[in-house]
Amino acid sequence: MSGISLLLALIEQGYSGSVLVVEKRAEPETQKTWCFWGEENLSSSLRHLIKRRWFSWSFSGDGQEYHHCTQSSEHAYCCLQAEDFYQYAFEKLKGLPTIEWLWNTDSELIDTVDANANNVELALKGRRVSASFGFDSACGISLPEGNTINQYFVGAWVKTSPQSFNAKKVALMSNMTADESCFEFTYILPFNSDYALIELTRFSMRDESLADMQSACEDIVNSGDYGNDVVIKKWEKGVLPMDTRIAPVKVGNWNCIGARGSMIRASSGYAFLTIQRWAQKTAQSLCSENKLSLAKPISPIYSALDFLFLKVMRKNMALSPTLFSSMAKNVNAVVFARFMTEKATFSDVLSIIKAMPIRPFVKALFTPEH
Ligand SMILES: Cc1cc2nc3c(=O)[nH]c(=O)nc-3n(C[C@H](O)[C@H](O)[C@H](O)COP(=O)(O)OP(=O)(O)OC[C@H]3O[C@@H](n4cnc5c(N)ncnc54)[C@H](O)[C@@H]3O)c2cc1C
Repeated sequence: MSGISLLLALIEQGYSGSVLVVEKRAEPETQKTWCFWGEENLSSSLRHLIKRRWFSWSFSGDGQEYHHCTQSSEHAYCCLQAEDFYQYAFEKLKGLPTIEWLWNTDSELIDTVDANANNVELALKGRRVSASFGFDSACGISLPEGNTINQYFVGAWVKTSPQSFNAKKVALMSNMTADESCFEFTYILPFNSDYALIELTRFSMRDESLADMQSACEDIVNSGDYGNDVVIKKWEKGVLPMDTRIAPVKVGNWNCIGARGSMIRASSGYAFLTIQRWAQKTAQSLCSENKLSLAKPISPIYSALDFLFLKVMRKNMALSPTLFSSMAKNVNAVVFARFMTEKATFSDVLSIIKAMPIRPFVKALFTPEH
């Protein structure tokens, strides 16, 4: 998605250079739903792809429920589907003579032979290609030593009898529970009163099995909470690293991008908007100056806050429901949406810090991790 997003932004901004796209799969992975806050945060050319908007979302656990409501599309929770995004992208990009597509092709990245060279090289089935810029969304990552948290999620798109869901409200984190190494909740994205994504999510320091999670998700779906005639239409699943200390393994002059290029918000797993913002900025600087923007995709203040938040979770995972409930209870929808999209004001950041229980954060600040 990050590579295609950059390509779309480049073409929209009038880039006239040649581009080679190398993709291992025969076609793009379309079993993904991308959500984010604030319609205006998306470039105007992609806004028509937004499939649903919600002005209300909730958090629940331990018998308590907290609701966030907003009136404005500036802070609404929006979603678009990968199949619509790729269909739009390929319609825009197909047939352009400056773009060469290599599907079904596993790239073998190689370093530049000349250490002083600024270009990148790619060896492909005996063919050697060099370019001024290379963007790699499949690069490796190096994990920090010790505990790290991964986000595991398995979601079922279900068709139910009418009125099974409140189509106006997303359950961002419902039934939050935790033990010493795993925080679990259910995410419910209702497209209609009879059609929704029900997703079991774990922020876990253990190795979780997606197959076991799928069975657990089926149990939730068939629990009777959504009526008795539930049909699972399709699944979507994934594992995302949640750690600000993860470094992309850069090869030569390749630029690591996307989820593997530190464009993921570590405390939440959201990456879609960051990638779109990065694509726009990068296309702008490539088109106007033929160089890359040096700005970090995620500003250091958010990385520092996410680092501390995740450190608190790693030290005391069982506290996670309290942390998210405190945030939900003490911060309003607008502040929350701005924080999630890296648009928080100074006073938003202060109110988020104030919303948190102080002791575990002070302790995490001053105690080293083993
Ligand atoms: C199911 C799912 C739902 C998500 N939902 C949200 C959401 O709601 N909101 C949000 O903000 N973020 C979400 N994310 C996180 C993030 O936005 C996505 O993971 C996004 O797709 C990341 O884009 P990317 O370009 O980094 O990776 P991808 O879209 O996965 O693209 C990487 C591409 O590299 C290809 N590739 C891999 N190895 C090679 C190789 N050796 N040679 C050639 N090609 C190769 C892959 O086939 C793939 O097509 C979600 C992630 C998943 C998995």
